[in-house]
Amino acid sequence: MYILGCLVQQHDLRLVALAFLVCLMACFTALNLLSRAQATEGGLRLAWLFGAAFAFGSGVWTTHFVAELAYRPGVPVEYAVGDTLISAAVPIAGAMLALLIFGARPGRAWPVAAGGVVLGGAVAGMHFLGMGAMRLPGTILFNPLLVAASVVSAMALSVLGLSRSDGEAKLADRLLGAVTLTLAVCTLHFTAMAAVTVLPGTLPARHEDVISAGPLAITVATASLAILMLSLFGALVDQHLATRVAREGKRLRQLTASTFEGLVIHREGIVLDVNEAFCRMVGQAPDAVRGRHVLDFVQPGSAAEIAERLKTPERLRSPVPIEIALTGAGGVPLPAELLCRQIEYNGADAVVASVRDLSDRKRAEEQIRHLAHHDAVTGLPNRFLFNDRFVQALELAERTGAGVAVLCLDLDRFKFVNDLLGHEGGDRLLVEVAERLRATVRGVDTVARLGGDEFAVAQPLADQPQSAAALASRLIEALARPFDIDGQHVQIGVSIGIAISPTDGRTGPKLLKNADTALYRAKAEGRNRLCFFEPEMDLRLQGRRALEQDLRQALSRGELALNYQPLFDCRSGELEGFEALLRWTHPVRGQVSPAEFIPLAEESGLILPIGRWALETACAEAVAWQDRLRVAVNLSPAQFKQQDLPVMVAEILARTGLPARRLELEVTEGLLIDNTERALGILRELKDLGVRISLDDFGTGYSSLSYLRRFPFDKLKIDKSFVKASDEDAEAAAIVSTIIAMGYNLGLSITAEGVETQSQLDLLRSQACHQAQGFLLGRPLPAREVSEMLSRRAEPAIAA
Ligand code: C2E
Ligand code: CA
Ligand code: CA
Repeated sequence: MYILGCLVQQHDLRLVALAFLVCLMACFTALNLLSRAQATEGGLRLAWLFGAAFAFGSGVWTTHFVAELAYRPGVPVEYAVGDTLISAAVPIAGAMLALLIFGARPGRAWPVAAGGVVLGGAVAGMHFLGMGAMRLPGTILFNPLLVAASVVSAMALSVLGLSRSDGEAKLADRLLGAVTLTLAVCTLHFTAMAAVTVLPGTLPARHEDVISAGPLAITVATASLAILMLSLFGALVDQHLATRVAREGKRLRQLTASTFEGLVIHREGIVLDVNEAFCRMVGQAPDAVRGRHVLDFVQPGSAAEIAERLKTPERLRSPVPIEIALTGAGGVPLPAELLCRQIEYNGADAVVASVRDLSDRKRAEEQIRHLAHHDAVTGLPNRFLFNDRFVQALELAERTGAGVAVLCLDLDRFKFVNDLLGHEGGDRLLVEVAERLRATVRGVDTVARLGGDEFAVAQPLADQPQSAAALASRLIEALARPFDIDGQHVQIGVSIGIAISPTDGRTGPKLLKNADTALYRAKAEGRNRLCFFEPEMDLRLQGRRALEQDLRQALSRGELALNYQPLFDCRSGELEGFEALLRWTHPVRGQVSPAEFIPLAEESGLILPIGRWALETACAEAVAWQDRLRVAVNLSPAQFKQQDLPVMVAEILARTGLPARRLELEVTEGLLIDNTERALGILRELKDLGVRISLDDFGTGYSSLSYLRRFPFDKLKIDKSFVKASDEDAEAAAIVSTIIAMGYNLGLSITAEGVETQSQLDLLRSQACHQAQGFLLGRPLPAREVSEMLSRRAEPAIAA
């Protein structure tokens, strides 16, 4: 009550409020500067500390004199200038000391206590020195109890005020601290003022400069205004800086969070900060990463290199990224790329390491490598990888003296099955084939798909040629088992050609070529078999290739011609027509048999233009013959692959003017095997044109009677081999008789070809065979001779 009474009765309360405000501002400013100091180090820290001490000391001094002005002791008061100035220096120096003590050991209790006590002491010292500077007519008496109370309370409140200002104090903490310190100052001031009693007397003799209350008021008001402005400015700057730092920090954090790259800030290997991306890579929380050594997060294989780089700063900051292996989540190695830069972090040098996850890129690279080396359908190595491995195997074999076998495989009937199943089914079949091949070979063997239905196997490290033969047999067996593709039973086979190093060649390409030659032979020998390479195969094949080349030009060079072999009625001996037969006069070799070049033309596809030419020529030449004479033209199965064969025939008939009934087309059973329905469809269309259809070479092929029933042929030609054998062989004669009888039953006309002897002809006549053809009756003749013969005698007959 006493203190309160002093405050209320002896003070101008407006000035008291001003003093309080000045003090609060000064304390708040001081604490702001203190927190700045605590965020920095070295010389800058001392400067911030001094700023804080100055703000506090000068603020306390101003507070004191504003409060003194508010004090009305009832007598005029003057102030000694020297003492007044000293009283300003004390709190500044005291506060500096207090803050140095306070900041000596962050986080401990005693520096706070000691700092607070010193600060309180400085405030008290200032107050009593300021009182001592007063000059008034009378004596000032102090109540010692109140003086003691004022000092103790100032010290206690100072300790309290500082205790919340540790480290990075928040704004609220700083405000609370400022209020507490303000209370410390004001409590001291007003308690100490209450301790004062003025005994009126005379003004002591003047031997110093004094300043009266009026000018002091102006000085203090100016000072307090300056402090207020300074504080305000400081606060504004501080706030600005704080928000800028905060914004900067936030932006940086967003930036680092939004990058895919892991960022690690470290100083001498110790992690100071990390971003989320890095934490994701190593599968740890940010707090678990900070403070650890960077080497804790890399695989042992990369640790040595990074440790080396940490030691040599120039290499550490090299602009060339290095590839390392991080220890990812769960300890799994994670391929990554590392790039380091030096930065300043919290006022000191640090290194920021950016880490890029390479696992996607590695995966993509791996995938590209795989695609480049493997077949997309079956996943088997492709030709490229096969050659690579094959060359390796050969090099190894060269050193050890062992042989390497290469097996070339070609699926039999694949094209037919592929047509049947459609593209997808065909692919699935290839996948199953690949599966079986893989399961049949050993681990060291390489199976590859070279393209289409061609596969290859390289077999190193084995006794040759037994091992290759055994493997080939196993492969044939494996592919002979039926496949189940979408519920369809599919049967294919495989032909295999084998070449073995070093006998059949020393280089990859040579061996592959020779294995291919052997494969060709295997297929020619009837498929589903294996064949070893032999040198003479090569020669024969080369001969064939050369002939094929020549055949390509034969048509345009006019080397092809048609001969016509007469067909006679067996019983009456009348000439009924001719069969057109191709002849090739090779410029060097002379006559080449159609038995030799027709298969060649079929393989190369040349049969299409050649067959068309033969048909057109035969029709054109036959038009000139007597109207009742027919012309028979052979059609190859390959020509039935052309969907528009009936259209072509119709066009040729129209163009040449030959009536359809005078044309006979000779086909073999071969065309009915591969794709019965389609072939039968085309045959029917041909027959609808009015053309006659003959089944040639009957008895040699499959001779399936079901074909005869399913398709209404006009004519059956008994193969010449039966006719030939019928002379000596009773069984062959029986077959000829049976076929003729069967022809009668089915309503077919029967022709016997290859009639060379009278006895053969007699047999045919006795069985009432319809037609005969053979050297006995007439050899194939050039077109010119046919027309001569036809004009010479109107009726050539067997009898003649
Ligand atoms: P093919 O259709 O069976 O023709 C009959 C073959 O028997 C002809 O041989 C003919 O000269 C021969 N020949 C005729 N009478 C006798 C005989 O009494 N004894 C013996 N040993 N042979 C006789 P060629 O002309 O060498 O033709 C061979 C094969 O070439 C033909 O057999 C036919 O399949 C094919 N061919 C010929 N010309 C053509 C053609 O224009 N187109 C097609 N696709 N194939 C043709
Ligand atoms: Ca024929
Ligand atoms: Ca024939």
